Amino acid sequence: MRIHRLQGLLASTHLIETESALFLVDAGFFGHSATILRAIRRLGRTPEELRLVLLTHGHLDHFGGLAGLRDSVDFETACHPDHVDAIERGGLLVSPAIKPGWERYVGLARLTMGWLPVRGTAPVTPLEDGADLSAWGLPGRAVHTPGHSSGCLSVLLDDGTAIVGDLVQGKRLPTLVPELPSMAEDVASAYASWKRLLALGATRFLPAHAKEFTAGELLATMSRDGIAPA
Ligand SMILES: [Zn+2]
Repeated sequence: MRIHRLQGLLASTHLIETESALFLVDAGFFGHSATILRAIRRLGRTPEELRLVLLTHGHLDHFGGLAGLRDSVDFETACHPDHVDAIERGGLLVSPAIKPGWERYVGLARLTMGWLPVRGTAPVTPLEDGADLSAWGLPGRAVHTPGHSSGCLSVLLDDGTAIVGDLVQGKRLPTLVPELPSMAEDVASAYASWKRLLALGATRFLPAHAKEFTAGELLATMSRDGIAPA
């Protein structure tokens, strides 16, 4: 299995390549569908091999590219039950700011994104906590990891790789540690979700924003923030 990070305008997505199929975690912002299709062809694969698109949550920078992708190829889409409706309708969800200075960005996002021609994509399959992804041929499971939003899920692969969406802000520089995201509905839930993924055996973390990090680096952040690891 190989995982490719596809850099997007606002958020990155992850393309998972197995021998028999392709899987995508998040679909990115508007226009990202072209990046995804190009990446698939560059690997010598075909878009028709895309079996499942897993959405970590229903924020526009994660599903804005979905409708465009569906225009080109058919595949199944799945997310946590809390965000099925927003993604099917093309609704706008924005989490509140938790870091200084981000209130202005959140206000701007609410104002401007409401005007964007967001297309819903239906149907979306609801994935409960612990859903076994091997049913689609992907060795791993979906883990409900609320915090950034109530409907966040992470994809935990059997090799210990966790694709976590916006549950954690990745390393913006190699010398920096991973952090809480700039926006979150519930900080205590976010820390609980970090602990849960660690307890389930996650060793490598792939976030949608900034660079990947290890379990050890996440534990270092928790120690800095005064959060007990278990
Ligand atoms: Zn988000």
